[in-house]
Amino acid sequence: MTEFRHLLEPLELAGIRLRNRALMGSMHTGLEETGDQARVAAFYAARARGGAGLIVTGGMAPNREGGVFPGASGLFSDKDIAKHRLVTDAVHAEGGHIAMQILHAGRYAYGPDCVAPSAVKSPISPFPPRALDEEGIEKQIADIASAAARAVEAGYDGVEVMGSEGYFLNQFLVTHTNKREDRWGGAYENRMRLPLEVVTQVRAVLGPSKILIFRISLIDLIPGGSTWEEVAALARAVEAAGADVLNTGIGWHEARVPTIATSVPRAGFADLTAQLRREVSLPVIASNRINRPEVAEEILASGQADMVSMARPWLADADFIAKAASGQAARIAPCIACNQACLDHTFSGRLTSCLVNPRACHETGLVITPAARPKRVAVVGAGPAGMTAAVTLAERGHQVTLWEAGEVGGQLNLAKQVPGKEEFHGLIAWFRTMLDHPGISLREGERAEAADLAGFDEVILAIGVLPRDPGIPSEPGAHVLSYIDVLKGAAVGPRVAVIGAGGIGFDVAEYLVEAGESPAMNRDLWRHEWGVAPAWEARGGLVRPEPARPAREVWLLQRKPGKPGKTLGKTTGWIHRATLAAKGVQMIGGVSYRQIRAGGLEIDLRPEGPGTATEPQLIPADTVVLCAGQEPGGRSGGGLSAQLEDLGIGHHLIGGADVASELDAKRAIDQAMRLAAQL
Ligand code: NAP
Ligand code: SF4
Repeated sequence: MTEFRHLLEPLELAGIRLRNRALMGSMHTGLEETGDQARVAAFYAARARGGAGLIVTGGMAPNREGGVFPGASGLFSDKDIAKHRLVTDAVHAEGGHIAMQILHAGRYAYGPDCVAPSAVKSPISPFPPRALDEEGIEKQIADIASAAARAVEAGYDGVEVMGSEGYFLNQFLVTHTNKREDRWGGAYENRMRLPLEVVTQVRAVLGPSKILIFRISLIDLIPGGSTWEEVAALARAVEAAGADVLNTGIGWHEARVPTIATSVPRAGFADLTAQLRREVSLPVIASNRINRPEVAEEILASGQADMVSMARPWLADADFIAKAASGQAARIAPCIACNQACLDHTFSGRLTSCLVNPRACHETGLVITPAARPKRVAVVGAGPAGMTAAVTLAERGHQVTLWEAGEVGGQLNLAKQVPGKEEFHGLIAWFRTMLDHPGISLREGERAEAADLAGFDEVILAIGVLPRDPGIPSEPGAHVLSYIDVLKGAAVGPRVAVIGAGGIGFDVAEYLVEAGESPAMNRDLWRHEWGVAPAWEARGGLVRPEPARPAREVWLLQRKPGKPGKTLGKTTGWIHRATLAAKGVQMIGGVSYRQIRAGGLEIDLRPEGPGTATEPQLIPADTVVLCAGQEPGGRSGGGLSAQLEDLGIGHHLIGGADVASELDAKRAIDQAMRLAAQL
């Protein structure tokens, strides 16, 4: 009997037998917009080959005005059908099934032609929508049904009607965005009319033997959102209108509560799906922060859902189910929910990929092939760059010797100490599993000397970064620590000034204010912190946040003027700022540092505004923590790189050893894999 019995059990929907209960959730990757449909097909085919039970495509617009942005991909006309065929054929050839998501963005469409139930502008778009008239509403419904009809012709096994996340259908459901007084607004029966009409018409064009998934918003997380009674009434009505299965949607895009970030507890909303399951007789799909087969199995085995949706985990590892089914779950590359290469890319107009798997969406360009001539390769440093290089080289057939003076993981070992970044434990564990390869000789706890590296065919230095000393004068008796000391557990006073407000300054501040258990590891605690109604008792699921008292008084400082946090991830920066604000951290820009003394940190503060004069201030900190960026470890004078040069040993520098500024694990892993792919 397999370990993941429930996850691997087939499920029948609309007479179609899905081979397991793992749904690959919809993601906008940007691949369609490259115009290279073969690349799109390769992306989905890889996930079908890797065992996905049912794939849902990225959102396809039913018409131009419904596109998420001008030029967003869709299925507006018959001439698009052939290119979608390439995708469905590729997935079917791998034994998979695929449904097309129909996504009408409504007022979230980032363009001047956007339409909505009422002319209520979204806080996340500069474009005010046009309120639809009766005829306009009928046209939108007809366009959605036409897109479904074309999806059938293109060979899809069904469609997912996007009814959540604050998109067009969801906008009709709540009074926050639906101010209409006609038959499409007012009482809930009227506000439900559009989603139900869509489901009815889509069912009619699909016929009985294609899958109709309705993605329902279980908790809007916006003021004036739906009540649970309304959600349940909609679910029952959607069932009656002909849906085959209900997928879970959590939170509108404008919600000020994180829903998929790494600090959200794993399976943090599965209890809502369980509650939905009691309201309907249809199968239901759980979603959000499910990233391991063990988590998925637990949800299914405990009867919380009939199927489990994972989206980003399929970027991290295209072979998710194949590995789970063959006893290799420990080899599944974990999605750490960082958003750094997926959503942050999407929202800045770049192609999606994945921090832990740079091949995601680059399946046809970054190909790992067996080496033509196996080489002996020395890799120094087992941080993200060194480990990726070693694993990729070994997979290609090279013989690798990997030195690590400390502990495998490098800077990831610091990140894992930060509350809300517990997923880094899993990432390090995964790397360790992958390093257990016959082609890798790991020398953990051993420092490589230049002489050790002679005689190898290739030498790679991945020796990381050195913390920058900002050179601030410090009096005797001052308590000054580097971020490394702090994250390794050094004693820190009750009042702390953090110098530098980049990613690490924020991480350290979060570490310092957290008093006890990390909310990411305790769903109830997390809900208190963010004001999510514990038992779904409030409209929209929102109540007043009750964050736990901070463990320390913290000042987070930077020299640049303006509010700190602008360099953080596009989709996660606001979460870090909100977390620290809730803990009373003072985030101050426009600071110059004078000196550190026993009584605190002396600064000059330039208040915002033109022509303002600086004001001297004393921050009464017991401890000052330096988070002032890093210098590349590889290029520093007298280092290993220079010694190798003196010995005439050619070598490659990767990761922070190469360029430290704006380094993150994403860049380190990507650079390492690309080098290892071509040696
Ligand atoms: P960073 O982002 O470059 O930030 C360095 C901070 O130190 C800045 O606030 C900078 O602001 C300040 N600083 C620089 N030189 C200074 C000097 N001479 N004296 C005083 N202050 C100075 O570096 P980091 O925070 O060390 O992070 C390193 C990398 O790790 C980042 O690029 C980041 O991408 C990555 N990281 C990412 C995350 C994440 O959540 N995605 C988390 C942690 C780390 P001023 O110059 O304005 O003072
Ligand atoms: Fe997951 Fe981060 Fe990869 Fe996105 S970039 S899929 S969040 S690991």
